[in-house]
Amino acid sequence: MRVLFVASEIYPYVKTGGLGDVVGALPPELIKHNVDVRLLLPAYGEILDSVEKVTTLKTLSGPLYSKKGARILACTLADGVKVYLLDIEGYYDRPNPYVDKAGKDWPDNHLRFAALCYAAAHIADWENDWVPDIIHGHDWHCGLIPAYLRQVQGPKPATVATIHNIAYQGIFPRRLMAELALPADTYNINGLEYYGQISFLKSGLYYSDAITTVSPQYAKEIQLPEYGCGMQDVLKIRSVALQGILNGIDPDVWNPSTDPHIAGHYNGRTLKEIRNKAACRAALLAQCKLNLRSKRMVFGVVSRLVEQKGLDVLLDAMQVILQQGAGLAVLGAGDAELEEGFTRLAKEWPSQVFVFHGYDETLAHRIIAGVDCIIVPSRFEPCGLVQLYGLRYGTLPLVRRTGGLADTVIDNKDKSASTGFVFDNLTVPELAYTMQRAINTYNDKTQWAKLQKNAMAQNFGWSRAAGEYKVLYKSLTKSRT
Ligand code: ADP
Repeated sequence: MRVLFVASEIYPYVKTGGLGDVVGALPPELIKHNVDVRLLLPAYGEILDSVEKVTTLKTLSGPLYSKKGARILACTLADGVKVYLLDIEGYYDRPNPYVDKAGKDWPDNHLRFAALCYAAAHIADWENDWVPDIIHGHDWHCGLIPAYLRQVQGPKPATVATIHNIAYQGIFPRRLMAELALPADTYNINGLEYYGQISFLKSGLYYSDAITTVSPQYAKEIQLPEYGCGMQDVLKIRSVALQGILNGIDPDVWNPSTDPHIAGHYNGRTLKEIRNKAACRAALLAQCKLNLRSKRMVFGVVSRLVEQKGLDVLLDAMQVILQQGAGLAVLGAGDAELEEGFTRLAKEWPSQVFVFHGYDETLAHRIIAGVDCIIVPSRFEPCGLVQLYGLRYGTLPLVRRTGGLADTVIDNKDKSASTGFVFDNLTVPELAYTMQRAINTYNDKTQWAKLQKNAMAQNFGWSRAAGEYKVLYKSLTKSRT
């Protein structure tokens, strides 16, 4: 079975969030499951600079390929995955794939990602030797693939659209329809029209044969107005085609027994080894110049600083927690207001709060390994990776009960199977109360070690997810024969 993955980012080359992690990790795992996966990506400089050999497969021209035309390049990534790259001069080689320095969307995003979708749908124009059975597009950037497939004559691949975050919908003014060379009938309420505008995401949701999202709970939630971000009605219509497949994590990149970024290595097999985690904590505190009174708990945050993540509420809940001597290490960039809030907090509590605003992979690993408890109080969370990293590193997650957070963190009354701390309502008292619960548990060393052991025994490798995607792909190809 042949599957063409299409996406706008891929770890470790270009990544802004969980989508990049998934696109980096899932294809090699699917290949292990005997699915013949290849990728189509924008020709980012970071990829071109790091692969050994790049060949030009085809030169293309057409309305979506800009006046200068396009090229399909081919290369193989370090992990052996074969990749096609769509190269259009001036389109993709930018410091951030989506936004400019000021955080504003690139003004030609509609063209940049429409071209990617068009190239995917028209793969027969540039690749005759490898014909996909399935085209699997990720997020709104790939939403137009099934719309462009409507123009394609003859047998067509089945399509899968995966929603990594329904809040991002690729909405553009109607007047841009003329630039997109889409079949005219697609601008329709039963199509990609969305309240008088064009939505790339709605196109993917409406036309794809199957829709997946990255956790079972999020698949349920997005059919409700509170979480559907306006797409709940389309998803209700398509509910039979919608399912949640929980993400995994890359077990090699996020492995406390081999992680090159951290000060001590450990695994979850024995409690003694979990204690080696103390070296990571000490190194982190030293690096962050945190000076806590002995045995005080350290909380951590590794996150985009955006409203979704609920960190505004954490800011307000912190005072009462800091008064007890606890610490906080924050790595995150994003909204100016949140960045300023955390910077102020660090100034006010210099020996207890450390904040770094920027993107830093090494520091992310050090925080995940070094803090005692990683906080993810999201308003919504499609899957969430940070809590999974926390579980693997014996760093107990404290999360809101939503989306993938609800699916992955266990908080039982009797604590026998618990792996972290879960709360329901994103309010200052409820978050502070749950942090207090975590501190109380931390002060009971036997209990804390038990939870760490439970957490580290969880298995969030990609194998299970790859198996579930394979079942889905098979069902789609079967239904066509
Ligand atoms: P989202 O995709 O909504 O950002 P996820 O939890 O699914 O949230 O994935 C976030 C990913 O981005 C994780 O791999 C996390 O470690 C990483 N990350 C987020 N912010 C930063 C940062 N400032 N520096 C380094 N890594 C970060």
